[in-house]
Amino acid sequence: MQRSEPEGANAACVAVRNLVFEFIDRELEPEQAAGVETHLAACSPCAGFYAFERTFLGVLRRRVAIEQAPAELRERLRIALADRKRSDPPS
Ligand SMILES: [Zn+2]
Repeated sequence: MQRSEPEGANAACVAVRNLVFEFIDRELEPEQAAGVETHLAACSPCAGFYAFERTFLGVLRRRVAIEQAPAELRERLRIALADRKRSDPPS
């Protein structure tokens, strides 16, 4: 994924932004995560970037999870969900 960095972004900001996705996914080593957290607390542009990516990624993931499911599975899910609604509660 290519990102154009804003002019004058410093190396710490670039590093943090490169780690933000792993940070959101909690895939960072504890020290790395702490570093990102510290930077986000001190740097409002990066905090804004993080907040945006976290929200955006959450929305995107939910959509992708549904859209990437094979059509057959999706159809079964749809039926299962519709079924559950109809037959709920079982008597
Ligand atoms: Zn920053």
